[in-house]
Amino acid sequence: PTAAELVDRLTLEVPDFPEPGVLFRDLTPTLADADGLRTITDELVAAFAGRFDLVAGIEARGFLLGAAAAYAAGTGVVAVRKAGKLPPNTLVEHYELEYGVAALEIRAGQLAPGTRVLVLDDVLATGGTVDATCTLLERAGAVVTGVGVVLELADLGGRARLSGREVHAVRTV
Ligand code: IMP
Repeated sequence: PTAAELVDRLTLEVPDFPEPGVLFRDLTPTLADADGLRTITDELVAAFAGRFDLVAGIEARGFLLGAAAAYAAGTGVVAVRKAGKLPPNTLVEHYELEYGVAALEIRAGQLAPGTRVLVLDDVLATGGTVDATCTLLERAGAVVTGVGVVLELADLGGRARLSGREVHAVRTV
């Protein structure tokens, strides 16, 4: 089966999580499956092959994809963390959620200027998380090659919010 077929087959849909009216897509079983992890990782690496020096994985399922992709491509991986988890010094980027604000952080001084970075996460919804991640990496001196996600929720407009960036989704619903 293709990566997209495995996403359809293995991803769980959880109604009313994390709040009433929201249909949460749980990719945990998709990544727990050996064929799922391999085919998804291979597709995301192939989509940007030869165009990145480093992978950035967004907490938390992006860490799983990020490490797998970095290993497959022969690069290193950095963790883009939710605020408050990293020791100083960090770069922080605040962004709007539907209700409230959130913040992401990376270690300061860990990227050589011009490092070409592939950003990976499990789900692209409104695009706020990936947008903040790209801004953070660019503030750190990186060049964002593109964005790879397993599942894109098209109705939420993430691709438009990331206009000008190359986005590869294994599956779009
Ligand atoms: P966005 O910032 O609205 O694009 O939301 C994307 C972030 O929220 C990603 O880090 C996802 O892991 C998480 N997320 C949003 N919706 C879902 C979902 O349905 N399933 C799993 N994660 C989600």
